[in-house]
Amino acid sequence: MSILIYAESAEGKLKKVAFELASYAKKIAETLGTTVTALTINASDTSELAKYGVDKVLQVNQDKLSSFNAKAYTDVIQQAAEKENAPVVVLSSTTDSLYLSPLVAVALEAGYASNVVGLPVSTAPFQVKRNAFSNKAFQITEITTAVKVIGLAKNSYGVFENPASTTQEDFNPTIDATDFGIKVVSVEKVSGKVSIADADIVVSAGRGLKGPENWGMIEELATVLGAATACSKPVSDLGWRPHGEHVGQTGKPVATNLYIAIGISGAIQHIAGINSSKIKVVINTDPEAPFFKVADYGIVGDAFEVVPQLIEKLKAF
Ligand code: FAD
Repeated sequence: MSILIYAESAEGKLKKVAFELASYAKKIAETLGTTVTALTINASDTSELAKYGVDKVLQVNQDKLSSFNAKAYTDVIQQAAEKENAPVVVLSSTTDSLYLSPLVAVALEAGYASNVVGLPVSTAPFQVKRNAFSNKAFQITEITTAVKVIGLAKNSYGVFENPASTTQEDFNPTIDATDFGIKVVSVEKVSGKVSIADADIVVSAGRGLKGPENWGMIEELATVLGAATACSKPVSDLGWRPHGEHVGQTGKPVATNLYIAIGISGAIQHIAGINSSKIKVVINTDPEAPFFKVADYGIVGDAFEVVPQLIEKLKAF
């Protein structure tokens, strides 16, 4: 018996969320007196998982899985969970895992809780805490099935080192490569060097920037911080920035360590999507802007004066 995590990778490289899942699963495993198995699909180097308490890595390497296929990936996770006799299967809240989690739960006849934050409140009965109502409330949910599927909200737990002696095992599940009628046709990088999904820091800007020609300083600030760039909905609606950068209730959710909002008013629909970020900073000329009510730090000032100064200070740092 072992807790199974699906350790996602991109272009062969494990994603940061894989280490968060490992850290999280290790704690649950300690409570249940069991071990952690990480399932990887076409990851070239899985050795780093040992740092975060993974006892066994099940490595699947198959050409058929070179691009995302919900049916095939679900089959692989199901077979890995059955092989490991996993009482708990943990996935992240990336785009792919959000798609897979309910499918895996159905395949395993398991109860599924999405948007989980933190360790289980109790393991008998098995109760977890979830974000609810656009992250404005927490809900305690009990999973009553023998197998439990958890969708851990990204960045909600953290990454903690806990070295283990890890065994590696090749795993060759049966793969049905027919899909559910969707397939990834191409991947277009939005902009910036860091994707919003993987970013520790997000620099986001709104209509206060006046026009697309002023995004140079936002990109420069993001580069200096190693951050991803994002924007409010009207900014992408106006075509100032690509839609992939739109964050909020109807855009991408952001749960990052540091979210910097520049010239964004802080409308409820925007805040709903970025609320889970750990530290929120706002730069806005209007001290009455609603964003200041949810921000940890705020600068009342003109972005065109504040941002260049910030860049200068950070470069000198
Ligand atoms: P504005 O509201 O125009 O705010 C601009 C801000 O910039 C102001 O606070 C102003 O004081 C400040 N400013 C102006 N000049 C400067 C300067 N020089 N320096 C610094 N600050 C300056 N919005 C989202 O973002 N994401 C969503 O997912 C989303 N979903 C929605 C869903 C629905 C159903 C609806 C109805 C709306 C949704 N919206 C969403 C839109 C949302 O209600 C707001 O209209 C939007 O967030 C406002 O964007 P903004 O803050 O960029 O622009």
